[in-house]
Amino acid sequence: MKAVQYRTIGAAPEVVNVPDPEPGPGQVLLKVTAAGVCHSDIAVMSWPADQFPYPLPLTLGHEGVGTVAALGDGVTGFSAGESVAVYGPWGCGTCVKCAEGKENYCLRAQELGINPPGLGSPGAMAEYMIVDDPRHLVPLGGLDPVQAVPLTDAGLTPYHAIKRSLPKLVPGATAVVIGTGGLGHVAIQLLRALTAVRVIALDVTEDKLALARTVGAHETVLSDERAAERIRALTGGIGAQVVLDFVGAPPTVATAGAAAAIDSDVTIVGIGGGALPVGFGSLPFNTTVSAPYWGSRSELAEVLELAHAGAVNVHVETYSLDEAPLAYERLHEGKINGRAVILPNG
Ligand SMILES: [Zn+2]
Ligand SMILES: [Zn+2]
Repeated sequence: MKAVQYRTIGAAPEVVNVPDPEPGPGQVLLKVTAAGVCHSDIAVMSWPADQFPYPLPLTLGHEGVGTVAALGDGVTGFSAGESVAVYGPWGCGTCVKCAEGKENYCLRAQELGINPPGLGSPGAMAEYMIVDDPRHLVPLGGLDPVQAVPLTDAGLTPYHAIKRSLPKLVPGATAVVIGTGGLGHVAIQLLRALTAVRVIALDVTEDKLALARTVGAHETVLSDERAAERIRALTGGIGAQVVLDFVGAPPTVATAGAAAAIDSDVTIVGIGGGALPVGFGSLPFNTTVSAPYWGSRSELAEVLELAHAGAVNVHVETYSLDEAPLAYERLHEGKINGRAVILPNG
């Protein structure tokens, strides 16, 4: 079968032929319908050899939906042809965090060498993929697979970040979304669906800010060194009760801290290498800073329910499997508005 692989440190991903996978006991083989192209893959592919944590070659794609093609020995509960989404942050399934459904915070995944698809295990950017356990599948029901696939990361990750801050997202509060790409443009919609807060969106181009307004941002601000000042002006000097940074680079993290209100949450989701100092006097009183990771199994089910309810509409551009390297190139150049989705069997 064809697969999109990162094969050489520093090189672009390549479309190659690999052996067809077969499901082992307890596993599920999916025929991949759609796979999302995530900016974090670009960060991963920029890591030097001595920091690269996964074996190469690596089949990319940590957002996947497909149809059940075959069940390994002992697997029940799914039937051939059923349309499913893949829950990506695989854990051990038995530790106390996994028991809560928070496999994204599995205590033993690293020790046991368990890696998400596309981030260590073979991912969704291939004609077929192996899912290690049926508990990592959520039925799509009638959802459009192309629309649904970004929800497994670009929906789930902001949902998890927003959910922790819901007590602060009261009517009259302000939420700031920094970076309105794949994750950020979904975050704006989630904030609008779950709360009555005012949403201020930041990005570096007018195209992206236009998309932010289309999907529900009340105000948009160009992301530069004066952005925090403008957010203060828009909030009567108070700042934002919740700041979600989907870039996470040193300048955006600085903006996030400078835009925060007293008793606020600053959540750094993007993996841009920025850090925010926490200590008396460095941030407004009782500001919490968190760097969460992905989301839980139950939260993925909740995000898909929101999609069923019509509350989230992901802006997608579709590409064939052969065009996947081009999609990464366009994403790297900031040319994708919303999410790029690969159709491996399209
Ligand atoms: Zn991602
Ligand atoms: Zn676990």
